[in-house]
Amino acid sequence: MTVKVALRTLLERSVKKMGKGMNPVVKASALEMVKHAYNEGITVQISAGYRSLEEQANLYGQGRVYSYKGKNYSNLAKPIVTNAKPGQSYHNYGLAIDFFIVSDDGRRAIWTVNSKWQRVAAIGKGLGFKWGGDWSSFKDYPHLEMTGGLSYTQLQAGKEPHITSPKTSKGDGHIISIQKTINSRYKTSIAVDGVYGPKTRSALIKGLQTELNKQFNKKLIVDGKWGPKTKNATVIIKKGASCNITWILQAALYMEGFNPGPLDGVFGEKTGAALFKYQKASRISADKLAGKVTWNELFA
Ligand SMILES: [Zn+2]
Repeated sequence: MTVKVALRTLLERSVKKMGKGMNPVVKASALEMVKHAYNEGITVQISAGYRSLEEQANLYGQGRVYSYKGKNYSNLAKPIVTNAKPGQSYHNYGLAIDFFIVSDDGRRAIWTVNSKWQRVAAIGKGLGFKWGGDWSSFKDYPHLEMTGGLSYTQLQAGKEPHITSPKTSKGDGHIISIQKTINSRYKTSIAVDGVYGPKTRSALIKGLQTELNKQFNKKLIVDGKWGPKTKNATVIIKKGASCNITWILQAALYMEGFNPGPLDGVFGEKTGAALFKYQKASRISADKLAGKVTWNELFA
């Protein structure tokens, strides 16, 4: 049996690959697409996002003799991969992404344009992206973009796109309420976007550190980072528990895709069942006790 890659892993890899410089709506929509696909049993990752003009020159130089701003980018050893010169790709403005399918265990890239691939593209289009697979001249199957109705010329002139995506601005209602609660309870200021990203997870860790200090006299630094000190300071949360730490457990389980029922901070049957399923899926001891191993699995 293979262990299915966690949604969080796919989201984190995708965030990393998109890089800084992404339009926030495009980025959120990309992550929403990964999540939506995951819920349908399709594991997908974003392989590229923002690309600087120099990086674009480097790509354009593949298979060509090419120089840009006085620098030689010729690379005849490789095949041509793009027809877009620097400034002629929506990637250069943080408005495009590329995706690929990964194996269920998250270890292998699968580049076959099959029904899964088409489905991901359809999810992306539903979120407001245009798909390179629909182009007539040069099909670019991994490519999705949001142009905001602007041409390269307008973008190069510094015009800013106003992209709104009604679907992502709503996000996941439960995650939105979790994010609101974290912000008010732990004085964080994470984006309330309904998407479980690294910042939301870090804020949950801050919450856990805060509660461990307050309720159990631990002396943790509240930095939102998972490390051995925080791991060793965790307490066992089990049936009958009723506290803010139980709420953090419920929130974390929900984010991982295991619904614990109402997020009420009370460890009842549903929370126990969600924890059990999560532990089984993660191949850790399925004892319905959230101890060090479970906390570590959730946050490391
Ligand atoms: Zn692309």
